[in-house]
Amino acid sequence: MISQIIDEKSIRKLKELLDDSSKITITCHQGPDGDAIGSSLAAMHVLTSLGKEVRIVAPDGFLGQLRQLPGAKEVVDASRYPDFARQLLDEADLIICLDYNLPTRTGKLADALLAANAPKVMIDHHLEPGDFANVIISHPEMAATCVLLFRVFCRLELFNFINKAAAECLLAGILTDTGNLSYNVGDPELFTIVAELVRKGADKEQLTRHLFMTTSVNCMRLNAYALLKKMEIFSDEHAALIVLSREELNRFHYTKGDTEGLVNRPLEIPGIRYSCFLREERDLIKVSMRSLGAMPVNEVCSEHFGGGGHLNAAGGEFYGTLEECADLFRTIVKENTQKYKKELNQ
Ligand code: 5GP
Ligand code: MN
Repeated sequence: MISQIIDEKSIRKLKELLDDSSKITITCHQGPDGDAIGSSLAAMHVLTSLGKEVRIVAPDGFLGQLRQLPGAKEVVDASRYPDFARQLLDEADLIICLDYNLPTRTGKLADALLAANAPKVMIDHHLEPGDFANVIISHPEMAATCVLLFRVFCRLELFNFINKAAAECLLAGILTDTGNLSYNVGDPELFTIVAELVRKGADKEQLTRHLFMTTSVNCMRLNAYALLKKMEIFSDEHAALIVLSREELNRFHYTKGDTEGLVNRPLEIPGIRYSCFLREERDLIKVSMRSLGAMPVNEVCSEHFGGGGHLNAAGGEFYGTLEECADLFRTIVKENTQKYKKELNQ
């Protein structure tokens, strides 16, 4: 048995909305990861077996590793089919928002999402949920949206509708957001849920291989190059920085997802408490940060890079040159030694 954490009122309202709907459109955040796609696909599998007509709209494309998940081909990429995506939102009688807390996280899809008349349900584990949805099931203490969604299914008495495909997708989300069950795994109930998913036929070994142990020669070389040539270590300041320009990315035929996880690598070095990765995009610099312990990289990202996120995983954007952005981070690193003295020395 797992404990009940979701309030009864939200569950009742969600149940009513599901009963009253036949066309459901599921949405997730841009740059969808395993938790976003995993939760969307799992919801599709479960709701389809309830007889609903379900579509998934993702703001843009997702990583190749996720294409192995059952149903992945059904996902509509709104960046390629914007009109169709808008139509699916307009025609839905229920919109489910998974793994994001604010419409802006859906990028260019946000306007269509907000303009759609259908009631909206948010199921998410990010901090500071916005109030754009009619039902908000927000639990930042959950390791993944997929954990929360499993709990939602149980509360809706849909446990038996979680088939092998749905179980596989839920486990993919959990593995993604916990680094293959490496972090955010303090809650013993997480393992009860994982056990149930394995019992339903999810293959943890195969998922691990697809999600974490599959790469390309270019991707492997790009990451090796980044660590060998582009990693700056600020030992006294407990920080690290990796910067990759468009030219460097192109040199290794970069495709989306090739640098996934790179920002975590410096944290393997004893003494490094936070790490920053800057990737030059066409019209902005994408900032990505990770930390250990109490060092709040979401604060750093919101203060300097117009972003946010979780305490230990956050991101933002910078408008200027890559070198300006790197210099800004170097300055921030110096400031942070005093500002976060306690957090950095725990
Ligand atoms: P990543 O480094 O994987 O791109 O993002 C890690 C986490 O940081 C995301 O799950 C998200 O919560 C947050 N994040 C990343 N980029 C942004 C951003 O531009 N704005 C905000 N508010 N959060 C971001
Ligand atoms: Mn997530």
